[in-house]
Amino acid sequence: MNHNQLHDYLEKLRQPATDWQAELEAEARRDQIPIMERDGIDFLKQMLRLNQPKRILELGSAIGYSALQMADAVPNAHIVTIERDHERAKRAIENFNEHNSSQTIELIVGDAFDVADQVKQKGRYDLIFIDAAKGQYQRFFELFASMLTPKGVIVTDNVLFHGYVVDSSNASKRIQKLAQKIDTYNQWLANQFDYQTDFYPIGDGIAISIKKS
Ligand code: SAH
Ligand code: MG
Repeated sequence: MNHNQLHDYLEKLRQPATDWQAELEAEARRDQIPIMERDGIDFLKQMLRLNQPKRILELGSAIGYSALQMADAVPNAHIVTIERDHERAKRAIENFNEHNSSQTIELIVGDAFDVADQVKQKGRYDLIFIDAAKGQYQRFFELFASMLTPKGVIVTDNVLFHGYVVDSSNASKRIQKLAQKIDTYNQWLANQFDYQTDFYPIGDGIAISIKKS
């Protein structure tokens, strides 16, 4: 039995995507936008239902798919999400207007490093989801961790980066460099002893770091 067989078996047990979810997934596929994979997003949503964060910060909105999915899991949470690409941010706003009827999602257009002060002024966050530029993960963590509430959670996506973090010998130089950076981040993250961090081989690899109090 191999990993793909298990994956296919579990895939058949998964709830089918709703119309808006399928629409956004198709849009992302068409425009080659790296949104979360279905098993990854389902895992994150279930964690949110258990954890019930009131305020969420997301780095990297893309077209708003993961923010809308998070709002679907915790409809009363306020979500602040940051996107630097103007075209994607525009699509995200359109998608929020269409699918987030209670308007709990707030988009900030800009580079996460440039808008950090503005983000901090809004208050603390119970959960921070890091899903922006993969080469900058440690800088994101160091800067935004100060905005966490006590016992806050940081979720990092793409920590396996299509498996290249484990073996990138067949990849391009650019991918190899990026995979190396993510590996360095993973090692660093595992050694942040103010946090309990666990890594999961779900979706494209997810790390969950819980701040120790
Ligand atoms: N979270 C989304 C996918 C995000 S893809 C989802 O799962 O649906 C990563 C996004 O981060 C890209 O759209 C990219 O433009 C954005 N990004 C990368 N670096 C950034 C930065 N420094 N500040 C803000 N956005 C950034
Ligand atoms: Mg991602």
